Amino acid sequence: MRSFIHQAPAQRIVFGVGALASVGDELDRLGATRAVVLSTPGHEHLADLVATLLERRAAGHFAGAVPHTPVEVTEQALEVARECHADAVISVGGGSTTGLGKAVASRLGILHLVIPTTYAGSELTPVLGETSGGEKTTRSGPAILPNTVIYDVELTTTLPWSVTVPSAINAMAHAVEALYSPDANGQTDAMALEAIRAIDRGLRDLRDDRESLGARSDLLYGAYLAGSCLGAVGMGLHHKLCHVLGGTFNLSHAPTHAVVLPYAMAYNEPASLPAMSRIAEALDSDHGPSAVQILVRDSGGPTALRDIGFARADIGRAAELSVSRPYPNPRQVTTAGITQLLGEAFEGNRVRPTA
Ligand code: NAD
Repeated sequence: MRSFIHQAPAQRIVFGVGALASVGDELDRLGATRAVVLSTPGHEHLADLVATLLERRAAGHFAGAVPHTPVEVTEQALEVARECHADAVISVGGGSTTGLGKAVASRLGILHLVIPTTYAGSELTPVLGETSGGEKTTRSGPAILPNTVIYDVELTTTLPWSVTVPSAINAMAHAVEALYSPDANGQTDAMALEAIRAIDRGLRDLRDDRESLGARSDLLYGAYLAGSCLGAVGMGLHHKLCHVLGGTFNLSHAPTHAVVLPYAMAYNEPASLPAMSRIAEALDSDHGPSAVQILVRDSGGPTALRDIGFARADIGRAAELSVSRPYPNPRQVTTAGITQLLGEAFEGNRVRPTA
């Protein structure tokens, strides 16, 4: 018999080609009148576009978002938000910008509208990771969950291929781990499988036609579904490994996900056979971990930790950190097992079905 708890998030989602045009209406709907727009230094043009659409409701702009949400940067953004008496934050960009938006909006207790331009999924979670003095801490709470998300497929067409592939696999990882999460339920299972299918299809189609808006739409739709899973259920070994590799060894977020996912799946396979068989079916394959690895490889994504800045000498420490605090995972996580997993991932060896 089933038993589960499902907390439906209080969030409004607007999805489509050209959806950005609704940003003024969406801000009005929230009841906000003065928004501070956040972006990274390289994407001020996106913030300008938003400001133009907002007209008099654009109160300020801070273009200093950087990876890992350092508190010093948050302080600077808070100053801008306070100076312009903002009653809402609008974050336009990838997970780094969304993280800054969460940090600012939750501290000031103001509204938050996110316009994601990557597939990271942060916009759908009540979780915020921040760094201070080189240390990354994570906190969560209802005040961190953004109020509205506008997904505009057109904004993702400028994503370079080198960002597109790892970011798409980053999203797929949320869906994969949702399927063997102890919190999984019928709703998250359905979203996760649909996400895996949409991301797989989107990447293949985009490989054939880099200009395809339909393929971009599939990827963003898959990322939305996968992000919904991330917000709804707890993640396991894969996310823990990526947190350690990113937080302690400073590896880039999405490329780390792209390398590690097939190995984490292969590790968990013996203890999650039903989930793995559903994933394999969604990928039209007889082995899920291999199908993901081939998808990454054939899409030109990163496949070895050695290629994304990880040092072999750090395997032992990374393994220790990954087992240091218990967390739900289908298969018991041991130092020896994770050392072996990281060794395989370091070399980029092929994953194989469990004998
Ligand atoms: P990111 O925001 O740094 O963006 C990745 C790259 O994409 C950057 O180089 C950026 O300049 C580029 N980019 C973004 N939009 C673009 C566009 N429209 N056109 C061209 N290039 C564009 O990284 P990310 O992978 O999106 O997010 C990673 C961060 O998000 C990490 O800090 C991670 O911890 C956080 N995150 C948090 C959660 C959560 O629930 N709290 C979930 C997922 C990710």
